Amino acid sequence: MNFLALTLFPELFGPFWETGIVGRAVENGIIRGWAIDIRDFAGGRHRVVDDRPYGGGCGMVMQPGPLDKALAEAKSRLPGAAIVLLTPRGRPFSQQMAEVLAGTARDLILICGRYEGIDQRVIDRHVELEISIGDYVLTGGELAAMVVMDAVTRLLPGALGNQASAASDSFSQELLEHAQYTRPSNWQGEEVPQVLLSGHHRQIETWRKSHALATTLLKRPDLLRKRNLDRQEIRLLEDWRLEIERILDAQPLRGLDPSPGGG
Ligand code: SAM
Repeated sequence: MNFLALTLFPELFGPFWETGIVGRAVENGIIRGWAIDIRDFAGGRHRVVDDRPYGGGCGMVMQPGPLDKALAEAKSRLPGAAIVLLTPRGRPFSQQMAEVLAGTARDLILICGRYEGIDQRVIDRHVELEISIGDYVLTGGELAAMVVMDAVTRLLPGALGNQASAASDSFSQELLEHAQYTRPSNWQGEEVPQVLLSGHHRQIETWRKSHALATTLLKRPDLLRKRNLDRQEIRLLEDWRLEIERILDAQPLRGLDPSPGGG
């Protein structure tokens, strides 16, 4: 899969292509990545790419001309690529979107905005998909492009050492992942849960499922509501409910009694 970023700061992408799992995916030919400097397509001695917004207002806007030319170059290098704009106005990025993009394996041209954004006409002419990585505003689209490329790359066949780990990651099935532990088994008096040391695969799987369900219930109940729970999962959640009731029966909560003199 090929990624091509259009940016005013191509130097930001160098370390990204060279590091960690993304770097290994490049080395192994699973992905290729380039960054094109939009400024190379600007005319004039000062290679200006921005101008004041029509209608007034603060900040500057990226002009359509240089970006249009940069896109023509990008399309000639990657014919058939999907053209993606990173923008806070886009569809919220999610694991599901990463799975779709990795599943189609279509090349991506990623437009990284700067200033107050990009002239709408070049967006209307070229962009197929607008992606936001969250409800906050960054200074530029480069980090957002890297977020998308990183999440997609690790889902491509062969990118992770152990492909199964992507399937158990948080969000992959509307569940957050269970807690993880590694050596030493006793760290400053804190023990790893005994079942994980038992070597009993079925019990370990059940523990992990049970803890993934409890974590999701506590932190992201919205995800759990979207999931079709199977019989085992309902039973595991029921076990948690009984456990909480047992704890509360043994030691009722204090501080909630509104009666005079109450806790
Ligand atoms: N004025 C724009 C607005 O309010 O929607 C924000 C422009 S922002 C300062 C500059 C660039 O950063 C955007 O064009 C976009 O490419 C990128 N960007 C900022 N926040 C983003 C987000 N949450 N997701 C994706 N890209 C973002």
